[in-house]
This record gives sequence, structure tokens and C-alpha cells, in this order.
Amino acid sequence: MVSRTTDDYTAMALAGCAAVCEPAFWAGFDRSGPQGFYDYFCQLTDYEPKRAAKFGLPHYSWLCINPKESEDMKLAEEVISIIPEFLARPNVLGIGEIGLNKNTRNELKVLEWHIDLAARHGQMILVHTPHLEDKLKGTRFILDVLKADKRIDPARVIIDHVEEHTVGMVLDTGMWAGMTLYPESKCTSARAIDILENYGEERIWMNSACDWGISVPLAVPRTALEMRKRGWTPERIEAVIYGNPLRFMSQNPRFKL
Ligand SMILES: [Zn+2]
Repeated sequence: MVSRTTDDYTAMALAGCAAVCEPAFWAGFDRSGPQGFYDYFCQLTDYEPKRAAKFGLPHYSWLCINPKESEDMKLAEEVISIIPEFLARPNVLGIGEIGLNKNTRNELKVLEWHIDLAARHGQMILVHTPHLEDKLKGTRFILDVLKADKRIDPARVIIDHVEEHTVGMVLDTGMWAGMTLYPESKCTSARAIDILENYGEERIWMNSACDWGISVPLAVPRTALEMRKRGWTPERIEAVIYGNPLRFMSQNPRFKL
């Protein structure tokens, strides 16, 4: 949301969105140093919640250095060291979106640091999985690292951007799966509904990408319409679109609607 307009907030409020959950992500450019992240974390935990509140939307955030910028390990170490001071902020739900981008050795190390940070502070985890040809391999790496850390409760982890070829392996671990709805890459509404119909509706939910590129903040409500066209009952739609995120995020007592 930090890169979206107030019109988007208005549209989301009108469409019935109940809250916004914003992960720390790549801003479309590399930040030049840890101070850039410090300011960004202030924005995510102070300014943006106030902006969202003007539209009646509670705003929650996740904190980390995203995989795309974590190739520089010195920078990653410095950024991770400033995160704990923000964890007490009232809108912080956990650590994310961590994960992998190009599946490099450095990214894997930084992923482990983040998981350790989450474990030490009892935080929930939101994970980004790589795109296209790197997704399958990257998702396997990520699941292996998470499973190897016995301090991590799988029920408090969501693996995001799953697709047809990764959703099954994620659900098998007991973790949650997230489908990111995107007009071009990632998942379309139709594919997301196909996945739900094939893999069940227990531990899976959808989110819309709202970023600096072409993306659709109303992708989730639009998918709800698509579900109706396919004959889903209102109760079943509500359970997936609203009930599932609510169930997952309410594991953090800070999340209240
Ligand atoms: Zn992501």
C-alpha cells in the first residue's frame, strides 16, 4: 500500500475489505543502506496505518529485508539487527515476506537468519517464493529450512505465491498456502479457484498484490464474483476469502477486526 493511491484505499473499503496486511517488500529499487530500511519500517508501522485508518481500514504489517535485497549479507545483517525494536509496534504481525528470489547461497543464509529471528521472538512467518523456473526448487529449499528448525510451528507459517506445482507440497507440511492474484504473472482468479477446487479449502487463502507495478488491489473481491459465477455458495466463499485469513492471522492476538 505504500506505493498505492488513496483511490485504492477508497475502492478497497467500498468493496468490503476489512483490513490490510502489508509485508515488507522490494520497493522497485534497491535501498542504499540500513537507514533506508529503518525509515521504511517506520512508514509500515506508523505512517501507513494512520493513512489506512482515514479510510476505515485497520493496517497490519510484516517486517524483514526482502529476498531481492538480501544478497548483500552485511546489509542484511544490519537490517535484521534493527527489526527487534519494531516488533513491539501494535500493527506488526510477524516476519515477512522472507524467502528466496534467485535461490542463491547468500539468500538461503539470510532466510535462516530471519527464521531464527522469528523463533527467538515467537513471531509468525510470511514467506515469498521465487518466480517462474525458480519456484519449484526455491519452494523445496524453503520448506526444508523451515522443517529443520524445530522451534517453528508450521501452523504459524504461510508460504505465499503458491501455484499448481507447489501448493501440494506446502499443504503437506502443515503450513498455510497463499495464492497471490496478479493480472499477468503469478495466479489469475480462474487458476486460484481451480486450485481451491483441487486441493481443498482448509489452510489456503488468496491475497492481492498491491505494489509499484501493474497490480489489482481488488483482485480478491473480483475472485469472489468469479466464485459466485462458478456456483460457490456465499458461505463457502466467505469461509475462504474472509474466514481463512482471519483464522491464520488471529493466531497473533494483535490481529483484531
Ligand atoms: Zn512476494
